[in-house]
Amino acid sequence: MLKDQDRIFTNIYGMHDRSLKGAIARGHWDGTAKILQNGRDWIVNQMKASGLRGRGGAGFPTGLKWSFMPKESDGRPSYLVVNADESEPGTCKDREIMRHDPHTLIEGCLIASFAMQAHACYIYIRGEYIREREALQAAIDEAYDAGLVGKNACKSGWDFDIYLHHGAGAYICGEETALLESLEGKKGMPRMKPPFPAGAGLYGCPTTVNNVESIAVVPTILRRGPDWFAGFGRPNNAGTKLFAISGHVNNPCVVEEAMSITFEELIEKHCGGIRGGWDNLKAVIPGGSSVPCIRGEFMREAIMDFDYLREQRSGLGTAAVIVMDQSTDIIKAIWRLSKFYKHESCGQCTPCREGTGWMMRVMDRLVRGDAEPEEIDMLLDVTKQVEGHTICALGDAAAWPIQGLIRNFRDEIEDRIKSKRTGRVSAVAAE
Ligand code: NAD
Ligand code: SF4
Repeated sequence: MLKDQDRIFTNIYGMHDRSLKGAIARGHWDGTAKILQNGRDWIVNQMKASGLRGRGGAGFPTGLKWSFMPKESDGRPSYLVVNADESEPGTCKDREIMRHDPHTLIEGCLIASFAMQAHACYIYIRGEYIREREALQAAIDEAYDAGLVGKNACKSGWDFDIYLHHGAGAYICGEETALLESLEGKKGMPRMKPPFPAGAGLYGCPTTVNNVESIAVVPTILRRGPDWFAGFGRPNNAGTKLFAISGHVNNPCVVEEAMSITFEELIEKHCGGIRGGWDNLKAVIPGGSSVPCIRGEFMREAIMDFDYLREQRSGLGTAAVIVMDQSTDIIKAIWRLSKFYKHESCGQCTPCREGTGWMMRVMDRLVRGDAEPEEIDMLLDVTKQVEGHTICALGDAAAWPIQGLIRNFRDEIEDRIKSKRTGRVSAVAAE
């Protein structure tokens, strides 16, 4: 278990003073100007050495992403954009940073922006996060008043402005290029990639888009050193990580832990165990709603990191761990996700616009047991037509949970169809 002295987020439960005074007392904003004096290359190289992989879900190496930004300006400004549009079902970790430990994020924004020669940073915060926006704005104001950001930030000679932009409640605006469109005042629709944002991002300028947690861990990594951070977790899965554990555990929580902790340790140490005991565990979605579920019996020894969970045909994603016990109607749970993705599709590309509707309509019938048995394979086929054929990852995200359901719980789907036909189930109705 992670020791208290190794936690980056020292106020994740809001037990302490979140103001600048409290943040400084907990070690934030310590020697920030000195960090900047080491220069841009030093910062980027330290981040590469730390092994930090993006905490927004995709796990792309953060230092490598920063290194894609142009070293010499071609006349266009560079930007840092922080993706605080946390909307993946089950995911509520960035919310805790912004409302209880906002100065970790602001200090990280300054350092990351400096490393990428960006004089401006935009934080795009989810529309529903009203209190979080207020807490973050209050912290930004404090940082300006104290000279930590703004002109000659931290007396480093670097001018740096930070803007908070409030979204309007569309899940798709969490996709990085839809977010940029929205920030530009347009409809939030994903762009084709490439070009990636480092080449042409906000207003066509070099831009790096990073998740809140990815940026908030930067100051501590640079203060304590990349080796310290890389000392947690297995190779290629370094660091500490916020896990958001919800569902059928005794104490749902958000907790910072070492990467590669086993699922059993995570649940026993922090969540008081599975509701009704381990034999009552039915399935787990280990990384937010976009990744396939895994059957309970394979989870106890599971290693909670990117590589292990990918090998299990799932993923760490945002580390939003959704635990489901035997009382769960797993078909209905995945049907609910299908409904969500259909609703949130921006409709721009045909496989996603039409496919999410098709998938949801077949899921409607599977939930009620009204489908023909052949429709299970037909549904699987539709998911394959959507997967990998869309502009952004929402298409994959809609397809993968259904693939996981069929792979792991085909027997349950077939039983429901049979039961409905023999009249043993009168109504397992969708909402
Ligand atoms: P992605 O793998 O396409 O990209 C990840 C990051 O790496 C992006 O910033 C991208 O620009 C960069 N990148 C990738 N390849 C690159 C290259 N060749 N050159 C330059 N840069 C490159 O994934 P994505 O579509 O950004 O994100 C999908 C993930 O988002 C899903 O896994 C899901 O878990 C997650 N997600 C998170 C939330 C949330 O609330 N945090 C919501 C929805 C989805
Ligand atoms: Fe829009 Fe879906 Fe296409 Fe993404 S995959 S661009 S959400 S229609």
